[in-house]
Formats: sequence, C-alpha cells, structure tokens
Amino acid sequence: MLIDCKSISKAIDADVKERIEKLGFSPKLVAITSKPDPSTVTYLNSQAKKAKKLGIEFEVMEGSTMDELLKVISTLANDDKVHGIFLTHPLPKGIDEFELTLRIPPEKDVEGRTPYNLGMLIYEKEYFPPCTAEAAVRILENVTEIRGKNVVVVGRSVTVGKPVEIMLLKKGRDATVTVCHSKTKNLPEVTRSADALIVAAGRAKLITPDMVGEGAIVIDVGINVVDDQLVGDVDPEVEKKAQLTPVPGGVGRVTTSLLMEHVVRAAERLAGKNE
Ligand code: NAD
Repeated sequence: MLIDCKSISKAIDADVKERIEKLGFSPKLVAITSKPDPSTVTYLNSQAKKAKKLGIEFEVMEGSTMDELLKVISTLANDDKVHGIFLTHPLPKGIDEFELTLRIPPEKDVEGRTPYNLGMLIYEKEYFPPCTAEAAVRILENVTEIRGKNVVVVGRSVTVGKPVEIMLLKKGRDATVTVCHSKTKNLPEVTRSADALIVAAGRAKLITPDMVGEGAIVIDVGINVVDDQLVGDVDPEVEKKAQLTPVPGGVGRVTTSLLMEHVVRAAERLAGKNE
C-alpha cells in the first residue's frame, strides 16, 4: 500500500498560507547552487513551484568558484529581505561545502545544515531540523506511533541519515534505532527485522521485497535519475507487502512543504525581533 504523503504536505501548506497572511509580507528564500545535477534541478524546480503557490519569493543564485559562492552567501546573510538561505547538495568537486555552510547564519539556515542547527538536535531542540530528515520522521509519525518501534535507517549522511537517527531517538519519540551503511554486513537480515525502514542511500532499488518484513512501513528518501526517470532507493514492488512512500510524490513532496514552513518561521522570528 502506498502512504498518502500528499495530504501531509497539503496540511503543512495550508498552515503556511495562513501564517503568510498574518505576516503581511512575502518571505523570501534564496537557493544557492553550482553546476546542479539532475536531482538538484528537480528539487529546485519543485521549490520554485511550491514557493509561487504559497506566496513565497524564490530566487536561485549560482556561483562556480568558492570565492563567488562565499560572496553570494555574505550578501544574502546581510540582506534583511532574505529570510532563508538554501545551499544545494551535493556541490561539485573543489567546492568546500562545509566551509560554505559555516557562513550561513543559523537563523536563515532553513535547511538545517549548519553545525548550530545540527547540534541543537543532539540537545533535543529542533530549531531548524534538516527538512528531509524532518519529512521522513513526520511521515512515520503520521502512519504509526513511533515509541518502542524498531526503526532501521539505511544511510548515515549529515543531510539525512544522521539527523533522522538523532530525531528518532528524541525523548517522546523513543524509537529503537539501528543504523546501516555501505559497510554493513548482512543488510537484508537487518532490514527484515524492522518495524519501519527509512532508506537514504542514493542507490536505485537497493531495497527489494525480500529485504522487507510483511506489513512494515518503508520510507523511501532516495531520489535517483535512471533513464530520465525519477526512482527511489526502494523497489516499487515492496508496496505489495508493506506500506511504502511513493517516489516521486513522497518524502520529496513533504520536504519541500517543510522547507517553506521553515522560511515562514524564519520570517516570523525576524518580524518579532523588529517589532
Ligand atoms: P549520501 O551519498 O551522502 O549518503 C548515502 C548513505 O548511504 C551513506 O551513508 C552510505 O554509507 C549509505 N549507503 C550507500 N550505499 C549503500 C549500500 N549499498 N548499503 C547500505 N548503505 C549504503 O546521500 P544523501 O545525501 O544522504 O542522500 C541519499 C538519497 O536521498 C539520495 O538519493 C538523495 O538524492 C536523496 N535525497 C532526497 C531528498 C528528498 O527530499 N527526498 C533530500 C535529500 C536527499
């Protein structure tokens, strides 16, 4: 069975629209990129579409060298009309993503990538949790009571795997979390034991039906472009024995809605500060 992610994202969008009306101005999000790959282009296009629909100003800025990108970030950091800065990932070789991330002010870091915002997760304070990780957790919360569940996460990246793991361990969520990665032995054995499986490996169809337990919940974070088609990390056949998020239209859809929610939150905080 496919999990209905559309209604989760619709509820977030409705809340965002209402809050923008209360704000009385359009918040602004700027995405910064460098030679974007096909999945980044897809993500930027869906951001542009969603922002337009919700009444959020959206702009993409590109740079090809570290110097250019640092200048762009510095300008945006000091511009009061810009509420959210989003740095795309991955960036080309030669671009130091970490160095760039350090220059984003945490209060404009709507993607939750800075050490400040990631560090807040350890303290169980979700100031701006990374949007994709938050989307995976939000979808899981919508489908089941997480407390006490065995959740297996495949992937340990800074952007998805690690924050998901920390968020699931938060008091109140109380999942029992197992983390797998490219060096994990007997991956199918571990994934089969999961009540819920969150997959963020970036490997098309890594998870096949025999790797999933009957009736499990499977959140497919992967976005891979294969023969010009978007496919997840999970074989769609898994839907026959488990609850599965679709790709496209699953985690990505909720992620984009949450990114916009973060932009509004950043604008609300700034407006509060200026009152
Ligand atoms: P990444 O390459 O930084 O990390 C991948 C992780 O998967 C690594 O920790 C690696 O150890 C693990 N891995 C790789 N191959 C494996 C294997 N065979 N078995 C077990 N583990 C394996 O990727 P990322 O940035 O975390 O992104 C993961 C996927 O999620 C990508 O497809 C990306 O496009 C997608 N993504 C989706 C969204 C969204 O909104 N839906 C947002 C960000 C990323």
